Amino acid sequence: MRKLLTLSLVIVAVTLFAGQTKQESQKEFVMDKVEKSDQEWETCLTPEEYQILRENGTELAFTGEYYKHKEKGTYVCAGCGNDLFSSDTKYDSGSGWPAFFDALDKTKVNTKSDISYGMVRTEITCAKCDSHLGHVFKDGPKPTGLRYCVNSVALDFSPKK
Ligand SMILES: [Zn+2]
Repeated sequence: MRKLLTLSLVIVAVTLFAGQTKQESQKEFVMDKVEKSDQEWETCLTPEEYQILRENGTELAFTGEYYKHKEKGTYVCAGCGNDLFSSDTKYDSGSGWPAFFDALDKTKVNTKSDISYGMVRTEITCAKCDSHLGHVFKDGPKPTGLRYCVNSVALDFSPKK
């Protein structure tokens, strides 16, 4: 009986240890998240940014600062500065919002299903701070066939040096 008890203790210990190392190795792949309370977001964003980034808002078409913007550089998250899109993938989709046919890196932009307003769409969020950016559609140009439709308000621009 005692032998059995010792054996089960060993098993428990090994399981716990294995669990721990697994968690640690997973951590390496997770980006440093930016986590803020709604109140903190309210103080560091403008009311317009807050409405779009944190409440899944959408700016009016054809009004955004970056819709017709053509400079070379990187578009970063207005919430946390995470690099999101390159000017090399920006194109004029005619939709009224800045459009990109690819993200700078798939790990920087998360996607999730959005069924609000009676539509089935794929929402895109910043992988670092979970801010709402816009939506991604499958009617983009080659080579990806994707159209990342992003609110200008959700972006800041860092010109190429
Ligand atoms: Zn962000």
